[in-house]
Amino acid sequence: MDITIIGAGAMGSLFGSLLAQSGENVFLMDIWKDHVSAINSQGLAVEFDGKTSRVDIPASSNMQDTRESDLVIIFVKSTQTKQAAVQALKCLNNKGVVLTLQNGMGNADKIAQVVHPDKVIAGTTSHGATMLGPGLIRHAGTGPTLIGMWSGKNNAGLENIKNVFCNAGIDTKIEDNIHLIIWKKLIINVGINAITALTGIKNGRILDSPPTGELVRTAVKEACDVALAHGVKLQDDIAEQVFDVAKATGPNRSSMGQDADHKRLTEIDAINGAIVSLAQKKGIHVPVNQTLTALVQTLQENYNPEYQTGQKK
Ligand code: NAD
Repeated sequence: MDITIIGAGAMGSLFGSLLAQSGENVFLMDIWKDHVSAINSQGLAVEFDGKTSRVDIPASSNMQDTRESDLVIIFVKSTQTKQAAVQALKCLNNKGVVLTLQNGMGNADKIAQVVHPDKVIAGTTSHGATMLGPGLIRHAGTGPTLIGMWSGKNNAGLENIKNVFCNAGIDTKIEDNIHLIIWKKLIINVGINAITALTGIKNGRILDSPPTGELVRTAVKEACDVALAHGVKLQDDIAEQVFDVAKATGPNRSSMGQDADHKRLTEIDAINGAIVSLAQKKGIHVPVNQTLTALVQTLQENYNPEYQTGQKK
């Protein structure tokens, strides 16, 4: 399968390396020039379980340099989804489809404004990866990947993509209701990300203090009310699931925490900010999510100006 990955950071490089190692024809596109030239000169280095392997994958930072593809995977941060969707459109062959496994709400809709909605696949992944430096990533954790057609209409290519992923060691399942799956992942991020980004704590610490736990519960309850108003019923014990994830990832900083630590733009607008926007459409008050969103926006707006584009590593 001809696969282009737009956004070859931690996750794009991880998926690219797994798919290339299983024999797929992978092309990486990323605007970070040092990373791209390291991949092209030495191969992409992937650290896993203390061992480092190198994978040869062609990469480019020139956005005119496209390859016709059966599948384009978008793995930029949600702040860059629109630009990546425009790029994806240039890479698709006649039957080609676009997949997003990004965090947050709104990515698939943004892609579907640029690419035909019946060609958009959305999903979530429990794989984790960390960018260690140009040409070097760490595969931090594994878990299931869930995919489904965003429009709900069948696409013959979906089963093929699942098989290609499974063959590459990416345990993948097709979900009929991918909107629900994305809401569930969003709720986890709503509960953990902004609070850890603002306070500097590791994920596990949200369990340690009653006021922090209460804040998580209220943010999650608001998000569940908004989901219900939009026709999505989440399980009653979803807050407990958020605490379970925080416990399982206890020693880690959330991705938003890491972005704040490195003074990069965060995905706040697609996470707590998405709850605020969706709440406004239904006339619902979400004061905790509104406050968390405003505080993270304030934090990132006051980074040193050289970091404001989010490109400084
Ligand atoms: P990352 O910052 O490591 O990678 C994003 C890459 O996109 C960067 O290398 C950047 O240079 C590149 N980029 C930015 N704008 C671009 C553009 N216009 N065209 C091409 N490339 C561009 O981020 P990540 O951790 O790989 O996360 C990507 C997405 O996956 C996010 O939505 C994140 O929430 C989600 N996610 C991450 C993890 C994880 O463990 N890292 C796990 C699950 C989901």
